[in-house]
Amino acid sequence: MTTELPHTMSAICAVCHRHTTAPVEVRRLEPADAPGTTLYTCPEDVGTLPPGPGADECTPLRTAG
Ligand SMILES: [Zn+2]
Repeated sequence: MTTELPHTMSAICAVCHRHTTAPVEVRRLEPADAPGTTLYTCPEDVGTLPPGPGADECTPLRTAG
């Protein structure tokens, strides 16, 4: 007997943190010192995720002084 999971797309919504079977990719996080991850939201929360740093603008701002 095997407990194979069905090959359905599923992810945890980054907004409501609920499991969704129809995730929408909203952002890619690719830190230099960690494996990249992708943020998903459920269809209901599409567009509600506030804009944040993406892979393009991952430059750490350090103000000396
Ligand atoms: Zn959601």
